[in-house]
Amino acid sequence: MPVKKEKIEMPKQPAAERIKNFGEVALGYSEESARAEAERCLFCKNKPCVAGCPVSIDIPSFIKLIKEKKILEAYQKIKEENYLPAICGRVCPQESQCEIVCTMGKIGEPVAIGRLERFAADYAYLRKNSVLSASPSGKKSKKKVAIIGGGPAGLTAAGVLAGAGFAVTVFEALHLPGGVLAYGIPEFRLPKKIVAKEVENLAAMGVEFKYGYVIGRTRTLAQLFEGGFSAVFIGIGAGLPKFQNIPGENLNGVYSANEFLTRVNLMKAYKFPEYLTPVKEIKNAAVVGGGNVAMDASRCALRLGAENVYNIYRRTRKEMPAREEEIENAEEEGVKFNFLVNPVELTGDESGSVSKMKCVKMKLGAPDESGRRRPVEIPGEFVFFEVDTVIMAIGTSANPLLPSTVPELKLNKWGYIEVDPETGETSMENVYAGGDIVTGSATVISAMKAGKTAAYSIIKKLK
Ligand SMILES: Cc1cc2nc3c(=O)[nH]c(=O)nc-3n(C[C@H](O)[C@H](O)[C@H](O)COP(=O)(O)OP(=O)(O)OC[C@H]3O[C@@H](n4cnc5c(N)ncnc54)[C@H](O)[C@@H]3O)c2cc1C
Repeated sequence: MPVKKEKIEMPKQPAAERIKNFGEVALGYSEESARAEAERCLFCKNKPCVAGCPVSIDIPSFIKLIKEKKILEAYQKIKEENYLPAICGRVCPQESQCEIVCTMGKIGEPVAIGRLERFAADYAYLRKNSVLSASPSGKKSKKKVAIIGGGPAGLTAAGVLAGAGFAVTVFEALHLPGGVLAYGIPEFRLPKKIVAKEVENLAAMGVEFKYGYVIGRTRTLAQLFEGGFSAVFIGIGAGLPKFQNIPGENLNGVYSANEFLTRVNLMKAYKFPEYLTPVKEIKNAAVVGGGNVAMDASRCALRLGAENVYNIYRRTRKEMPAREEEIENAEEEGVKFNFLVNPVELTGDESGSVSKMKCVKMKLGAPDESGRRRPVEIPGEFVFFEVDTVIMAIGTSANPLLPSTVPELKLNKWGYIEVDPETGETSMENVYAGGDIVTGSATVISAMKAGKTAAYSIIKKLK
């Protein structure tokens, strides 16, 4: 039988339905669909997809196991390299990593690797079969390792180190683990029970979690060493919001995406008053930015009942850094995209709440250092939006709180921690770092890779 050129579709909640709830949009493959998709894999000898995966999952092997109906074995195969498969299957940009190099992509659509990864992980979870055995070597080390930050970088480092028998403690500033997975990415893209499940797996491996610990305040790095930790991994992300620095940004109703998403996701504002944190009622919202964060904030605003959500982006759709799938979802749901415009002023009403956004029109100029064409203002040409809510999703930077308490820790000119890329080691002995606090805002999988690299270096060093 000839190979099917198109991916097997994954069912989704219809757009008109899903904007009324926070339930997951993509519903996952059935066993039958997963096997049909696995049939499309050509099982190439040179495995280009493995090279495309930042954590080098043996993709053809796990797909073959799905094809042979050995789903739990497929899950274990993924877990050899990836500690958070249910998460990666949902949010990884496969289209620019493993799938872009898939040989099937030359004759049709690439194999839906992410959907298959998600299927195998969900299958294992449903059967409560997702716990990796603690300390596969069977050996327990007396040495203790501290992980600062419970995002994907920290969780991955914790998993690798616990698997090698170390006593691992994760110190997390918030009251819940997961980092951006918990407070940033919304429930409808990544259900929080999936994140909790991955954390449960780590706890079952012996990882201890301490919440409400801001390292740099609650404890210093030096105190961790004094307390008997032999090595420390810093995975604190880069969650300091950036603003446009325009007049009116201090008006009521103007949020950073970070605050807005934290209220909605972590504090469950969409379930107010059952949960106590509210967000202001929204009628007309403008969300500034073209990345995943902007898409998430726009789609949350729609689900909170906004009549109009205007996405404001200074380049064109082609340059948007958000995942294509999420831009399409936002379009289907009714987000109104406005390209080549950039906010220059916000004005408010007599109560001090934002009421209008003034944007200057832009055109594209020569490419900048990122290779994308630079947006250039068209002087004197403006558009206006009547709004009661503005959400700035224009990026984040490194939070200086922890680094400012450790002068020996070498930072680059943007305030990110400098590490040896081969080992993740910082300028301080036995202090490692990885994820967004090293690279700036990147991806879940790159943070995981950094956590893994550092964990292997720590194992080598401490053994
Ligand atoms: C809204 C949003 C959507 C995104 N969508 C995607 C996507 O679809 N796909 C994708 O691949 N990537 C996406 N990303 C990017 C991705 O989530 C990040 O690159 C990734 O989470 C970085 O992981 P990390 O572990 O380095 O940091 P984080 O996830 O930021 O975790 C850092 C953790 O450290 C804690 N912390 C900070 N300071 C301290 C301290 N001093 N002491 C103790 N704990 C501390 C924080 O509370 C946090 O829990 C998205 C990001 C956002 C904001």
